[in-house]
Amino acid sequence: MLRGVALRVTRPRVAVLSAVHNHPHADTDSIIGVVRNDLGEVSHQAVYDVLRALTTAGLLRRIQPLGSVARYEARVRDNHHHIVCRSCGVIADVDCAVGTAPCLTASVDHGFVIDEAEVIYWGLCPDCSTPQPVPEYML
Ligand SMILES: [Zn+2]
Ligand SMILES: [Zn+2]
Repeated sequence: MLRGVALRVTRPRVAVLSAVHNHPHADTDSIIGVVRNDLGEVSHQAVYDVLRALTTAGLLRRIQPLGSVARYEARVRDNHHHIVCRSCGVIADVDCAVGTAPCLTASVDHGFVIDEAEVIYWGLCPDCSTPQPVPEYML
């Protein structure tokens, strides 16, 4: 994958790419944790730089829902959407509502060549929308 976009294959790049692949929607700190498990000591700055390079090259997609830190995923170019829990912040993927990326066909394009539509659904995840039993000490 790295060779395909003319990026030099380095150990940090491979490690970051596989970390994001295995942990979709991970934030930078969790990615740093996974990469360090893999490679040992790697600086924050090195991981930030790799994340930026891979995102610019189109191998990673960066999303940042309101109120969240930046998160990364390896599922790119399909313009899928995200659903975010207002309560705990968990994120899930949502395919386009109809067919293949129809959301890129805006009703009025104003002459723009559109390559991305950012749709975020907000709500409560199953864990947060299920009423929790009252803890015993509160009874
Ligand atoms: Zn939740
Ligand atoms: Zn996603």
